[in-house]
Amino acid sequence: MKILAALCFALASSGALAQHSHGVGQLGIVVENDRLTLLLEIPQHDLVGFERAAKTAREQVTVQATLEKLGQPERLFTPAAAGQCVLAEKSITAPLLTGGQATGGHGDVEARYVYRCVQPAALNELRTSVNKEFPRLRALTVSFAGAKGQKAGRLDAKNPVFAW
Ligand SMILES: [Zn+2]
Repeated sequence: MKILAALCFALASSGALAQHSHGVGQLGIVVENDRLTLLLEIPQHDLVGFERAAKTAREQVTVQATLEKLGQPERLFTPAAAGQCVLAEKSITAPLLTGGQATGGHGDVEARYVYRCVQPAALNELRTSVNKEFPRLRALTVSFAGAKGQKAGRLDAKNPVFAW
């Protein structure tokens, strides 16, 4: 749990210190024992086109579709097949979409996905299609932590695979 706690702290403090940039999300990847944890943090703007609660029926539809997509991580992420990972937990936090107030006019949506892997040693990459599903999002800044150490990187439409 130490690695995960350190990464959560790093993600939380980077979010607190710097205002997010529209078009760029953050992805934390942690492999610890047989668990693969993905922590996704995306400016709400990049998901639905606004950073406040939905006001119109049309915006409500967009919000529902977005939350549905985030609830299906198999549409967003593909861990290396050799790892034999199966989704075990997921949670989505979208304060502005569920009645919260914006701070400084900005708001993020966070998603956390936990997988259990039969062959965690064979798990050596993650493919994403987040940019395809959410075209406003140009890139994800990646922080990885695993048994062999830490690594940073970037995922975008041209480079959809992060390897370690
Ligand atoms: Zn914003």
